[in-house]
Amino acid sequence: MTRNVVVIGAGIGGLSSAVRLARKGCQVTVLEARSVAGGLAGGFQLEGFRFDTGPYVLLDRPGIEWAFRQLEIDPETQLSLQRIPEVYQVDDGSGHNVAVYDSFEQTASEFEQQWPGTREKYGQFIDRSAAVYRRLQPMQWKSQPGVIDVFRNGAWRDVPFLLSSLGSVLKASKLPEAIVQALGIWTHVAGQLAGAAPAPLALVTSVIHHVGACYLRGGIGMISDVLMNAATDAGAEFRFGTPVRRICCRNGTVIGVETDKEMLLADAVISNAGLATYAGLLDEAGRAALSHRTQRYFQNLPLQSPGVCAYLAVKGRPAPPYLRFRLRGEEDGCRLLVTPGVVDPSLENEGWYPARLIAPMAHARAESGGEAGQRAFLHRVVEQEHWWRDCFDDVRVLETRIPSEWGNRFHLHNNSMNPVMTSKFMLTGRVAHRSPWIRRLYLTGSATHPGQWVSFCSVSGVLAADCLLADAKARR
Ligand SMILES: Cc1cc2nc3c(=O)[nH]c(=O)nc-3n(C[C@H](O)[C@H](O)[C@H](O)COP(=O)(O)OP(=O)(O)OC[C@H]3O[C@@H](n4cnc5c(N)ncnc54)[C@H](O)[C@@H]3O)c2cc1C
Repeated sequence: MTRNVVVIGAGIGGLSSAVRLARKGCQVTVLEARSVAGGLAGGFQLEGFRFDTGPYVLLDRPGIEWAFRQLEIDPETQLSLQRIPEVYQVDDGSGHNVAVYDSFEQTASEFEQQWPGTREKYGQFIDRSAAVYRRLQPMQWKSQPGVIDVFRNGAWRDVPFLLSSLGSVLKASKLPEAIVQALGIWTHVAGQLAGAAPAPLALVTSVIHHVGACYLRGGIGMISDVLMNAATDAGAEFRFGTPVRRICCRNGTVIGVETDKEMLLADAVISNAGLATYAGLLDEAGRAALSHRTQRYFQNLPLQSPGVCAYLAVKGRPAPPYLRFRLRGEEDGCRLLVTPGVVDPSLENEGWYPARLIAPMAHARAESGGEAGQRAFLHRVVEQEHWWRDCFDDVRVLETRIPSEWGNRFHLHNNSMNPVMTSKFMLTGRVAHRSPWIRRLYLTGSATHPGQWVSFCSVSGVLAADCLLADAKARR
């Protein structure tokens, strides 16, 4: 039995692995560089308002519920998930406003009013998407889905779909361009063009109509609170303010980790530190197990920047929709205004509500512009673009964040959230949960799953832990 496991990082992936392993009888020590758990998906208080750090919406309710059930946490009682009725609106800058609601009927009727003849095409698009989603869904819950899984679920029919891009799937729908842009918004907000993005992003709207886009009462940070409590109850030990400096290896096998203060021996290590695991944390013996080609592969993966963001206090209860997107053309990406007060009136504080303005930034642009370029972009978004201010009676900017600040605060590899999700990267399977190069090293979190949402990170925590448990069982 693998008794002694070190988990590096208490993001959603690390926390989920810790719960799984502690419940299965392992002795788990979680080493977290920050003073709190949750990583990018945590929450914080600012001038009497509660904010989610990163995530603002759960688009994959089945995924988070699946992960929680594997972790023996009842999602019904532990997560107060609310479907959002008026989910989002996209202003494409050419005078079109496209609204997507929880209700298919309402969405399709408004499309029909603006573009007569669209209702039927939209219905067909949603029905086709729902069928593909049903077939592909079980594969999200496998560490490395193989040919048998593809045949078992009938997903072989979707191979051409998986080989195409979001852009080509949306184009094939023959819906008006403004609707196509609105349905593909989830790639714009990740700072990526639809032509390079994976086709499964086209399934999101059908998921919104069928299971709903969700907000969590108390904030999305509640997910990490629940996981943290479950891990502690199951006996995992947490050490905060403890960055891991090195993963120590011998003869191609992990033997432990080194912090500033000590060396901790471990039977296995699960890393929630993403690409930094291979790019910075392995000691010399560990790096020697990686070929130059592999090292180059990790160095050259295109990355996703967390972009710039402003945490706001806004006067008066915000009007729906919950999310307002504004497209700014290929070069300049998009903007997003998030108003949680729309779904949770209890966030009110003396007539003011929390809100957030987000602007994605291509990683290459953020890095080449440096801090000065990042600040100049933030300044333009917050001080010179007025559309979002016009939504409120009054606004206070409480705090802002540029990519280098995200990087420093959250210990992000090269100031990036993770490798950007391209269709090519999704097909090659992202970074493996079980290291192919170093024995007893496992990876969890957003770099390891074909999707970087909170739900996927939790699923990946379960899958990484299961790889470890299966290997330990095989060794017995
Ligand atoms: C602006 C923004 C908006 C987002 N919106 C959404 C959304 O709406 N919906 C959604 O589902 N997702 C969203 N996401 C994505 C989601 O938040 C992340 O993908 C997810 O939280 C990442 O989880 P993770 O497990 O990979 O770990 P992370 O959150 O990256 O946490 C890793 C942890 O490991 C720690 N760590 C790193 N290195 C070390 C080390 N050497 N030693 C010790 N500790 C270490 C870090 O301090 C951190 O706590 C958003 C993210 C951002 C930034």
